[in-house]
Amino acid sequence: MKAPDHDEVEITLFGRGVGECLVVHLDGDWIVIDSHQVASQKPRQPVALRYLDELGVTPHKVAALVVTHFHSDHYRGIDRLFDTCSSARLMATEALQTETFEQLYADDQADPLLGMIPNVIRRARKRAMPGGSPGFRALKVGTSVHVNGAGKITALSPSEAAVQESCVALAASLRTTDRYVVDKQLRDDNRCAVVLHVDCKDFSALLTADLVHDSAGFGWSALLGEPLNALTQAADLVKVPHHGSKGADHPEMWTRLITDDPCLTVTPYWPSSLPTAADVSRLRGHGRLWQAAPSSHAYVDEFGNVVSTAPTTGRITARRKPGEAAWRITTDGSAFEVM
Ligand SMILES: [Zn+2]
Repeated sequence: MKAPDHDEVEITLFGRGVGECLVVHLDGDWIVIDSHQVASQKPRQPVALRYLDELGVTPHKVAALVVTHFHSDHYRGIDRLFDTCSSARLMATEALQTETFEQLYADDQADPLLGMIPNVIRRARKRAMPGGSPGFRALKVGTSVHVNGAGKITALSPSEAAVQESCVALAASLRTTDRYVVDKQLRDDNRCAVVLHVDCKDFSALLTADLVHDSAGFGWSALLGEPLNALTQAADLVKVPHHGSKGADHPEMWTRLITDDPCLTVTPYWPSSLPTAADVSRLRGHGRLWQAAPSSHAYVDEFGNVVSTAPTTGRITARRKPGEAAWRITTDGSAFEVM
């Protein structure tokens, strides 16, 4: 695979049974959104690093790393990405009250996986960025992730109300001193995931993380009701929310934020076999659909063992130059277009 031309926008999605990562190219800059490690490689390497290396792109070209929410299928390997991409700013959802989170997990070896996030946030705060701005930025609606000559990446969520409510709920959980409750809340807060809009001037893309349809003030209803998002340009390339689940599907998302007949990309999620056949057929009703890997399933073998399908990694790359009428989409590994 050849690196994109300077003026060529690229949005590449990686995924397997569990795990999701997006790599975006905008006018010479690279942004990595969430992290996924390739299971078959030892030591495990973030897929974004392997891909950039294949393209001949040095890691210091990565301007930003985003953690959309705290599910391990979206952040595994983010510490390695942060250390290797030495010019990158780290960004994560503001809704999970990072300061309290940092205090709680500081020097904590009990949960090395979740503890990785506050540790890397602490390191990011110390990273000197050009102009003296901090190496960490919390994301909520309206925050710019990246701006350059070719366009702009902006957070459409979480809303101010979601940030406040989530902080209150997290603080209340902290008072119960039941770490399990806190861990669970951090891990399950899909309703406060960061949705990103990539505005490339004459076309755009919508990268929806795992945002779900939830009560008012959270999730898709909060995003759609947010005045700051009222003029968002409809996208014709969409990373489908939450592995294609029905619970993440909001009718107004399709009419307000997405054009007719868009290109859709989705990653499967192993533990719940997403996307299901019904999800795939619902999505196909909206546009063309590419899946990063087949939906996984578990079965019981003749000895009574529960066996799962192999976690293979696939790549879906969408590229487009200014003036081009449509995205050019190619696939590699286990990725395929759903016919
Ligand atoms: Zn996920």
